[in-house]
Amino acid sequence: MKLELSRVVKGSRLGVLKGLGRMGQHSLEVPGCLVYTHFGTVPHLTQDTLRTLKNLPSVTQVTLSDIAEHQEVLEEFRDGFRKFAGLPDTVLYCSLHDPAATSPTGYTTNKTVSVWGSGGRIELTVAKFMALQKTVQPDWYQSMADGETWQNNTSRKRVRKSVDRTLAHLDECLLVHQNSQELEGVEVFGMVEGGDILEERIRSARETAKRPVAGFCLDGLQTGSLQQDLRTQLTAAVTKELPENKPRLLQGVGRPDEVLACVEAGVDLFEGFFPFQVTERGCALCFSFDISPDSERAVLELNEERDAAGDLQQNGDLDEPTKMTYFEMNLKDKRYQGDFRPLVEGCGCYCCKNHQRAYLHHLLVTNELLAGVLLMIHNTSHYHSFFGALREALANDKLDLLKRRVLGRPGQTERKE
Ligand SMILES: [Zn+2]
Repeated sequence: MKLELSRVVKGSRLGVLKGLGRMGQHSLEVPGCLVYTHFGTVPHLTQDTLRTLKNLPSVTQVTLSDIAEHQEVLEEFRDGFRKFAGLPDTVLYCSLHDPAATSPTGYTTNKTVSVWGSGGRIELTVAKFMALQKTVQPDWYQSMADGETWQNNTSRKRVRKSVDRTLAHLDECLLVHQNSQELEGVEVFGMVEGGDILEERIRSARETAKRPVAGFCLDGLQTGSLQQDLRTQLTAAVTKELPENKPRLLQGVGRPDEVLACVEAGVDLFEGFFPFQVTERGCALCFSFDISPDSERAVLELNEERDAAGDLQQNGDLDEPTKMTYFEMNLKDKRYQGDFRPLVEGCGCYCCKNHQRAYLHHLLVTNELLAGVLLMIHNTSHYHSFFGALREALANDKLDLLKRRVLGRPGQTERKE
């Protein structure tokens, strides 16, 4: 894995992560995001449907919380998770927790961490964690970590303990990794912890950077855990300590405004769970990221749309990840009952090309499964196109314009960040 940066604009890094996969045949552009899955499948979509989407990243994320309880079956199967789940040629990244789910706290010890599957809690020691990695056969995985410090008011002592434990877990994982033939060529991402305490964040970053890891996961900064200002400040302090030529993945952050702020703080990669959350609440992403010269009118129209949807989330509070955001429209709303326009004018996805808002409204109020399918197609396509636009804006010195487009509201040129 090799990160080649082509530009760095005010902290935002544009580049390509090359040599991904066992044969080094894949690459991933940054800033970018991964494909979010439940047990290897993008919720609501078959592989065939998924592959019709443009701008799809080459990296698929799976989580141990889904996989751990199937360890025995996978061991019996022998050929790794990719084949088990019928995945095509994709880079497989294995993380500990599902970024769209909150794990209960209070279950880590010096020797174990816990994940929650459909059958309940599963306790992982380093030995079990590494045995799972050998069974899953991912291309990269995040190291085992004590990430229980994301809640407000976690004591300094507890945060320090989490950093120490996470470094100890990493050393133990690396030791097993280096002695495993099965894991040859597989990359490890180190976890940066430290809660909301700056010195601990810096210590965690510096110590993790000394280890032979391919990249870094920034943990405990997810939506709902702290204000964006503090998140930006901590993220920028951490990324400053990390080597320039290795990727930084921020866990649990997916909202477009937060993504933009974190890219400016030096983050390269995000998890792609946000379109799933939007789909689950019956909403469609409708924010504009069009920075072409004559996009003004279309942008105003979209902004009116999302403002009219009402009950919008305001910046400033600690935001609930499940609550509707400023970037989407609520298609269950009665106002769409007779609205025969596509979800987003000009969107090239299957849903927008073939269906109207009124039809989606009908599917949602009658609880048809097709609603989730069509919404997931549009939301995934829209979200990944946003990342494409972000890279284009960075390449052409138009980041400020893109920010105005994404964050702007009628009668307000730029939202307070
Ligand atoms: Zn669409």
